[in-house]
Amino acid sequence: KGEMAIIQGALELRSKTVEDVLTPLDDCYMLASDATLDFCTVSEVMQSGFTRIPVYEGERHNVVNILLVKDLAFVDPDDCTPLKTITQFYRHPMHSVFNDTKLDVMLDEFKRGKSHLAVVQRVNSEGECDPFYEVMGIVTLEDVIEEIIKSEIVDE
Ligand code: ADP
Repeated sequence: KGEMAIIQGALELRSKTVEDVLTPLDDCYMLASDATLDFCTVSEVMQSGFTRIPVYEGERHNVVNILLVKDLAFVDPDDCTPLKTITQFYRHPMHSVFNDTKLDVMLDEFKRGKSHLAVVQRVNSEGECDPFYEVMGIVTLEDVIEEIIKSEIVDE
């Protein structure tokens, strides 16, 4: 029974899109690019439990960077280092995909390496103004794998 579910999950990768499995932007734990890595912020990052943290400039839709928790290994909270110093030092590539990207394509991209988190964008053409790109949320390798095995992976 479990095997059938996995086979079905794998077959569905071709029809489902990243939009079906993303974590909406409102639920994302993010940092503002002008944040300071003081004790308070570093503790908050640790408590969030996330490995990859999108960094936004100005408003949350404007994701400009990704901070990896391991980037904090040499950061002393007493130094109150600006987050920008760290993100500009590591410059992790930020991977963006469109909301209609199929999960099998997404899985291939994750397998190719670089980042296991992608920012999901869509073209917003609803309002009166010209269509514009809008960030909807994030998708990680875990979101795709959960779709294959059809069950939640409980974090450590
Ligand atoms: P982590 O390694 O940080 O636990 P995973 O890649 O295992 O993250 O993803 C676990 C779940 O958490 C996925 O549903 C993913 O979309 C979500 N997720 C990952 N990073 C964040 C974040 N910064 N804020 C909110 N949700 C996140």
